[in-house]
Amino acid sequence: MRTNPYRFRLLAASLLSAFLETLSTAHARQASKESGSTTTVVIDAGHGGYDRGGIPGQRVAEKEVTLDVAQRLRKELAASGYRVVMTRDSDVFVPLGTRVAIANSYPNAIFVSVHFNSAKRSGASGIETYFYDRDSLPLASAIHYYVAGGAASSNRNVRRRGYYVLRKNRNPAVLVECGFLTNPSEAALAQSASYRQKLAEEIAAGVRGRNTVGSARSTTRVATGESIPLQPYIDQTKVAKSKSGRSKRSHKKSSRRKKSSSKPGGSEAKTSSKNQEG
Ligand SMILES: [Zn+2]
Repeated sequence: MRTNPYRFRLLAASLLSAFLETLSTAHARQASKESGSTTTVVIDAGHGGYDRGGIPGQRVAEKEVTLDVAQRLRKELAASGYRVVMTRDSDVFVPLGTRVAIANSYPNAIFVSVHFNSAKRSGASGIETYFYDRDSLPLASAIHYYVAGGAASSNRNVRRRGYYVLRKNRNPAVLVECGFLTNPSEAALAQSASYRQKLAEEIAAGVRGRNTVGSARSTTRVATGESIPLQPYIDQTKVAKSKSGRSKRSHKKSSRRKKSSSKPGGSEAKTSSKNQEG
């Protein structure tokens, strides 16, 4: 069979270009892995719109302080070269499913949900950081290390719980409770812009240090082992949809029942209805 030298050259050229293309894609992928600067951080400001957050009668609206910390966090992370995506950037209600869908649409992102805590007992105080998937523990440990270290609140440890936004997330996902708005001194702090700025800076430090802090096991602020128990949780998608007082009461009852049957972990906050979304 006679070979057409022109066709052969064309074939060789196209093979070479395909090879080079593969090479450059692999290189780009490697470069983005190494630099870390192109990591996307999905920031999730808890609650919003008709969902005020917290418990009924709570003075400081959780949805307002979570949004402010989230916006400050965006500034901090953007300044460090991260690509930042907000699940909400104003006082609107965003369903939990949408928040997770936003996060999951970025394959190599990390997800940070910002919340404040509440409890019927005004003395309850401190910082808690939640994760669900084991892959999220380094991120949770790092964020907790900085926030619990930098905040003027006590350390309530890194905890494992299947909050919807954590459980359904395909990316490393963390939910940080930046103190109790039902505690007079922590509520006063939360209302101070400089304190919210401090919280944002500490969370950002945790994001930046997510691959290094976990190995610093000498500090008690870092969760060290596989020993973190999974705390009971409720199906938040169902709860989030029910706005009537009746279903809220029944939810409270069921969460109380769950709590009494589980090992007490010092989480008095967890009997409150606000834990629908953490
Ligand atoms: Zn919350």
